[in-house]
Amino acid sequence: MSFENLGLAPSLLSAIQKTGFTEPTSVQAAAIPRALAGHDLMVSSQTGSGKTAAFMLPALHRIAQQPSMNKGSGVQVLVLTPTRELAMQVADATRAYGADLAGLRTAVVVGGMPYGAQLKALSRRVDVLVATPGRLIDHLQAKRVNLSSLHTLVLDEADRMLDMGFIEDIETIVARTPASRQTLLFSATLDGTVARLAADMLREPQRIEI
Ligand code: AMP
Repeated sequence: MSFENLGLAPSLLSAIQKTGFTEPTSVQAAAIPRALAGHDLMVSSQTGSGKTAAFMLPALHRIAQQPSMNKGSGVQVLVLTPTRELAMQVADATRAYGADLAGLRTAVVVGGMPYGAQLKALSRRVDVLVATPGRLIDHLQAKRVNLSSLHTLVLDEADRMLDMGFIEDIETIVARTPASRQTLLFSATLDGTVARLAADMLREPQRIEI
């Protein structure tokens, strides 16, 4: 299996080459083609499995497929993460995988950080937003974020977000996104409360357990 066989846009393949990855990890090989086919996914995967690229490459592919960057419209891809540290890692990975997507703008809004830089970032166009739920709610309530043109929602480490009590915030955020969105859920476990979350928020999801 090679990245070339997954169906990704050339601008993503060139960025992957620069990162030095030679072949997809198992979770990438399983998830990327199904995400590109438009399915919602629920994926059990651990940190270190390459899960970030498994959701971010298909999300960036949809941005790359647009005739021109969707200038002036709202956020296209939203990744919700449980912690500030994970959000920063996802944003760094997004910038690496999106390095050859001209003009791609990625912003991070997380709790425990000053508002200044976040306000500045949100005052400009944002294509990919990586956020922790609580701080994103603040910005949504202040109408600084518009999720009405979102096409891809990622729930990263969904089990940890639920353990941390973010369920109501996640529900509030998801209610602001279009029903037509694609939703990709990643979690260490897919049972119990995660299964209930998936039943509420995903449409006929394909289940991937690596
Ligand atoms: P993640 O599970 O997304 O946090 O990724 C764990 C680490 O694996 C990160 O340092 C990635 O840069 C790296 N990685 C992701 N995909 C690949 C790949 N296909 N080949 C080699 N390394 C990878």
